[in-house]
Amino acid sequence: MVIVVGSGAGGATIAMELAKSGMPVTIIEKGPYIEPKKAHKCYETLKTNLDLLKTVCVGGTTLVSAGNAVRSSEDVLKDMGIDLREEFDEVERELNVNALPDSHFGNGTKKIMYAAKSLGFDIKKMPKFIDPEQCEPCGNCSFGCPNDAKWTAIKFIEEAKKFGVKIIENTPVTDLLAIKGEIMGVRSYDKVFTSDIVILSPGAVETPRLLRKTGIKAGVSFFMDTFVTVGGILRDIEFNEEVQMNALIEFDDFILSPHFSNYLLQELQKFGASKKDIIGIMVKIKDETSGRVTEKKVIKNNTLNDVKFLARGSAIAGSILAEAGVDPKTFVSTHPRGAHPGGTAPIGKVVDKNLETEINGLFVVDASVFPTSPGVPPILTIIALAKRLAKYLKD
Ligand SMILES: Cc1cc2nc3c(=O)[nH]c(=O)nc-3n(C[C@H](O)[C@H](O)[C@H](O)COP(=O)(O)OP(=O)(O)OC[C@H]3O[C@@H](n4cnc5c(N)ncnc54)[C@H](O)[C@@H]3O)c2cc1C
Repeated sequence: MVIVVGSGAGGATIAMELAKSGMPVTIIEKGPYIEPKKAHKCYETLKTNLDLLKTVCVGGTTLVSAGNAVRSSEDVLKDMGIDLREEFDEVERELNVNALPDSHFGNGTKKIMYAAKSLGFDIKKMPKFIDPEQCEPCGNCSFGCPNDAKWTAIKFIEEAKKFGVKIIENTPVTDLLAIKGEIMGVRSYDKVFTSDIVILSPGAVETPRLLRKTGIKAGVSFFMDTFVTVGGILRDIEFNEEVQMNALIEFDDFILSPHFSNYLLQELQKFGASKKDIIGIMVKIKDETSGRVTEKKVIKNNTLNDVKFLARGSAIAGSILAEAGVDPKTFVSTHPRGAHPGGTAPIGKVVDKNLETEINGLFVVDASVFPTSPGVPPILTIIALAKRLAKYLKD
């Protein structure tokens, strides 16, 4: 019996892959089953002043993703002896990763792409795991897709169930049971689930908290791919109803991507703007792993480099928006936020290259295992790592 803790990007993939090879698997999930379009109700607010976005429900944070499908951390992982090329090919095939057709690009995104190109930036269409046949652009990806047009981990869970995977929802794992360096199972309050293989995938905030209860020193590093959205007014552009993050410019330490945020509206109402008048660009940086996760808090102070990359990215975003016709007098920015928590049980420190901890039979596969911040959307890489772990366990 294999127990998988959490059913997001990492958990759903490993459960599906192991079940397909005939292993008995049970997923224990803290959140409930919900319809993808209701995912916005499952955002979990941290009891801390950090604005970190994640959802607790079956399928995890994949339910609110923007559908961005980017390979990340390939070189860093290769240097550690982890070659994911085969797994990336596999994931891209299974998730039908492609740029959306032109019909799914709205005027705002087109203006940003045109402006970026005319300033000499290499802006590309974002690869997506969104089915264009199902997608009616509405700008609501991060609230939960109303048409179920994008891949979410629920799709892997449904597949896994066909191969006998049992899922226990509304059940937070509260403790790991280990004796003399061997995993014995997990506990949810007073309920015990025994197993000689446990795979932790509850995400980068919960994983280190559970590991620490066994004496493993996790959570002393943390990143979140800090981002801000810089925007301004372009009357009647209706950018808020477009597919978000439909294009991408990659720099060494940050990316830029067209993005609307309700926080911009709060700032721009004083100019008489409503949602349909606002256009923006997200600046997402490869932040330093300078944070940490404690029992009660998640701490991430921006380092000098973090601030430098946010400032550089914002300056470039501003120049693109101005070129697209936005009056610089209306430029505003959101506060820094994070949507990619990771790095709390890094490969090479807390887990080995097969993702096993110092406790026999206790593995981790979620965003915790990234050694450094990917700086780009991480789902594809988490799925690839889970596929690689499944191959190792089958062998
Ligand atoms: C708004 C938003 C948009 C995003 N867009 C993209 C995108 O377009 N592309 C991309 O690649 N990435 C995107 N991301 C990031 C991506 O969603 C996450 O990085 C990814 O889902 C993390 O995978 P994970 O397996 O680590 O955790 P999760 O997917 O969050 O899964 C963790 C699971 O564990 C469960 N859990 C938590 N604690 C416990 C416990 N104690 N016991 C049992 N279960 C538990 C949770 O309920 C959840 O189901 C986005 C994130 C946000 C917030």
